[in-house]
Amino acid sequence: MAWKLFNTLTRSLQEFVPLESSGKSVGMYCCGPTVYDFAHIGNWRTFVFGDLVRRYLEFKGFEVQHVMNITDIDDKIIKRVRESKTSLRDFTSKFESAFFDDLKTLNCRQPHETPRATAHISEIIVLIEKLMALDIAYKAPDGSLYFSIEKYRGSGHQYGQLVKLNFEEMRAGERVRSDDYEKEAVADFALWKSRVPEDGEVFWPSPWGEGRPGWHIECSAMSMKLLGPSFDLHLGGEDLMFPHHEDEIAQSEGAEVQDKGQQFVKYWLHGAHLLVEGKKMSKSLGNFFTLRDLLAKGFTGREIRFLLLQAHYRETFNFTSEGLQSARASLMRIDECLGKLSELAGSAKGVAEAPVLESFSNLLDDDLNISGAWGVIFDWVRDTNKRLAEHKVDPASAAAGLATWDKFDSVLGVGAPVEQQIPAEFTALLEAREAAREAKDFKRADAIRQELKAKGWVIEDTAKGPKLKKA
Ligand SMILES: [Zn+2]
Repeated sequence: MAWKLFNTLTRSLQEFVPLESSGKSVGMYCCGPTVYDFAHIGNWRTFVFGDLVRRYLEFKGFEVQHVMNITDIDDKIIKRVRESKTSLRDFTSKFESAFFDDLKTLNCRQPHETPRATAHISEIIVLIEKLMALDIAYKAPDGSLYFSIEKYRGSGHQYGQLVKLNFEEMRAGERVRSDDYEKEAVADFALWKSRVPEDGEVFWPSPWGEGRPGWHIECSAMSMKLLGPSFDLHLGGEDLMFPHHEDEIAQSEGAEVQDKGQQFVKYWLHGAHLLVEGKKMSKSLGNFFTLRDLLAKGFTGREIRFLLLQAHYRETFNFTSEGLQSARASLMRIDECLGKLSELAGSAKGVAEAPVLESFSNLLDDDLNISGAWGVIFDWVRDTNKRLAEHKVDPASAAAGLATWDKFDSVLGVGAPVEQQIPAEFTALLEAREAAREAKDFKRADAIRQELKAKGWVIEDTAKGPKLKKA
């Protein structure tokens, strides 16, 4: 079945067909983190969405080149560097490595390339030079370089491909220097910002004097360097649609002559916002969480990932602690079912069950209908449990069940439960109890069981012998 995705560019569902003639290779760019702080759970919804797209492409047999940039220079970073009195690299490296740790915690596949903006200053300069040569960019009296929307439109390009813009209100030559500005403003945006005293030691030489790049040009330069002037997929949160992504299109299509009928990006996908406990996240409301805040509350990466993957990517999703609790319960249901299958399967090998995988895939083909796909999985868990209860599962079909789950999970990435770390003293007690049982000292065996229970551990008898489980 054809895979349909909602392309923001055409505001419609479109069949996904890669640009490359073999139809196998796919280039995908996701706007990455600005490393001035720990990423919050709203950011993580977008990154997990990007990971879902990547995984589903791979599930369908595409060879994906996944690029995610690291914005390690922008207004916010400069402000923090100034306040923290450290060097730019010292400051950003801390948040950059925290980002990659968090990415692992949420079991996101590592992008193939994670370019840093500060390592691409020369590519950025070359791109701006092209725009200057084409007269689409200009130097303003403050020494900074801006993109001229008027000149761009005048040369036959369309500004406002992702959003509808009102050019009546646009005043020609009006400029914005800030990276963080009024969403509605249609104004010339900064490509290169001339050095000001507040920048401190953060600047690079350029043909136009010392300064630093604007935010939008970073993504145009890095995506085109690594994926070419025209590639398949560009993802980001819906808040980036305008002006960031619109400006990326303008810079890239303004500077590069695309082949006839081609564009900078064929499919633009945008993930919707996240609410926390029914409200927009804010520090003052106390509903602002980084991933680390949630881990400190005792939730695991897989529980958080499971919850982030519950809603359709284009729907606003309400993230709640109740949701996290039910994510935990749902994962336990899956884990229990898989645990039973794996005990039964032993060393048997099995092939994934094709019909259920087809239903799963048909739903994801429909613009990543994830709640439908989870529905298929939970029906499958229920049916499997029923067959298990009726003793209708032999080792071969248990192995087939496990192979089916592996296929589901290659897309969902919730993974297996982390093996519970059992402190050595309790393992020793469990062994002592076994020894007592073997010696037929049931009184002592029972006393040990009680002692373990008092300390929060229960003994569970399994086919592979007794095991400790947190009560
Ligand atoms: Zn970007």
